[in-house]
Amino acid sequence: MRPSDAGRMPAAATVFVMSQRTDTFDLGRLRLTSGEGRRLDLDVHVDPFSYGGSQYSVDPELVRARLDVSRTTGSGWALRLRFEAGVTGPCMRCLEPAQPSFAVDAYEIHQPGTADEEMLSPYVDAEGAEVDLEAWARDALALALPAQLTCRHDCAGLCPECGANLNEEPEHAHEAAPSARWAKLSELKFD
Ligand SMILES: [Zn+2]
Ligand SMILES: [Zn+2]
Repeated sequence: MRPSDAGRMPAAATVFVMSQRTDTFDLGRLRLTSGEGRRLDLDVHVDPFSYGGSQYSVDPELVRARLDVSRTTGSGWALRLRFEAGVTGPCMRCLEPAQPSFAVDAYEIHQPGTADEEMLSPYVDAEGAEVDLEAWARDALALALPAQLTCRHDCAGLCPECGANLNEEPEHAHEAAPSARWAKLSELKFD
């Protein structure tokens, strides 16, 4: 979920860098008390995925992600995950290789002890001690993707008639087919 007070994340000055692959992160080991926060830079693995029927890989496979953690009152967590990742695969319009990149900025709140299911993050385990960064990063990237992955935002695509790449042949055109009206009139004969 996206809390309305997400802007109130603590402005942690210190960044803790973990240069190993971190798929799940143990929040408990930060030993934060209510109101405390910590900022970490972690390397998170993001799996290749299929989108619109094509295969895409994430580049780099290990994404450097910034995780802001803050301990809420009542043993909860407010989490923010940010990273930038490139996606490599075919352009959905012209089929040439494409490598668009996307900035991801995601929030999660995990507040156990409330009846509200919305307050429980699917990425934090039942004990509220570990966050599944790999699953969260994958889903957050998926949500950041546009409807079409393209080689460039104004990709002209392929000619619907002959399949020519319209990026390479901007002047490409076919003779206009005669309209149905003229086709009909040409069949008409007057004696
Ligand atoms: Zn394209
Ligand atoms: Zn054509």
